[in-house]
Amino acid sequence: ATPTAVMVATGKGASQGVLIKGGNALEKAHKVNTVVFDKTGTLTVGRPVVVSAMLFPRFSMEELCDMTIAAEANSEHPLAKAVIEHAKKLRQKHGSPPEHVPDVVDFEVHAGAGVGGKVGDRMVLVGNKRLMRAFNVPIGPEIEDCISETEQLARTCVLVAIDGRVAGAFAVTDPVKPEAERVISYLHSMGISSIMVTGDNWATASAIAKQVGIHKVFAETDPLGKADKIKDLQMKGATVAMVGDGINDSPALVAADVGMAIGAGTDVAIEAADIVLIKNNLEDVITAIDLSRKTIHRIR
Ligand code: ADP
Ligand code: MG
Repeated sequence: ATPTAVMVATGKGASQGVLIKGGNALEKAHKVNTVVFDKTGTLTVGRPVVVSAMLFPRFSMEELCDMTIAAEANSEHPLAKAVIEHAKKLRQKHGSPPEHVPDVVDFEVHAGAGVGGKVGDRMVLVGNKRLMRAFNVPIGPEIEDCISETEQLARTCVLVAIDGRVAGAFAVTDPVKPEAERVISYLHSMGISSIMVTGDNWATASAIAKQVGIHKVFAETDPLGKADKIKDLQMKGATVAMVGDGINDSPALVAADVGMAIGAGTDVAIEAADIVLIKNNLEDVITAIDLSRKTIHRIR
């Protein structure tokens, strides 16, 4: 496309809340035949809420809540906010005034798995089964059942381990965006295939994919794994757009032919992307591709 055509299209995009960073992204977007979506915060609203909590034997609700709140305090993950909010409410309900809980030390983020650290003299882990496995925390049949029941309902099960034992779990739901299903089906009608890639577990991911009409899912992938999936698709000849919102999506956003970041996403994702969807609306994935198709085809 000529510089003038690029400028016109970029301006048009901007007026519709689609920020296109330069001519290259605009040129490439018309060739996209595969769109890869992150799940949390991209296909879902990203405002997860806890719907139930489970306490396992030998632990008290107070310690479950206190340890969870302390361990998640430094996390920027939306799941952390949901879990903290719920734990605070539970803490109030359970009468005894919150004792002074020390701040977490040696805090660590385990990308795509959860967080961990020391709270006073206790070792706390908050995250998924993969995190528990990595730290050799045993998961008995009762806990296993609790996890699979939660996941089949398209909910995420956040496990809390204290000193190497699972103390409790929170079931978290994150509703899909109202336009998600419509956008996926429109993409399909344009001859563009859709894929989900997520750090979340297979059961939850598959349940969400089904809700929005995505047939192909890659779950339990870490940030570099997400980028590898993109590269695999490209090796098979696909021109790939990646849509994501998180730090964990940035390698994939860079690897993709066209990286699209959700405007409400993290700065790192916005920086890594070629196109920013300011309105946080998935319809704008189509707006961007359409704009590119029209610009390129007008030139030729
Ligand atoms: P997605 O790819 O869906 O955006 P992430 O890669 O951010 O998900 O996280 C993958 C999984 O890791 C989450 O579904 C959750 O099980 C776990 N996880 C990550 N961070 C946290 C946290 N701060 N607290 C609890 N669980 C977490
Ligand atoms: Mg995300």
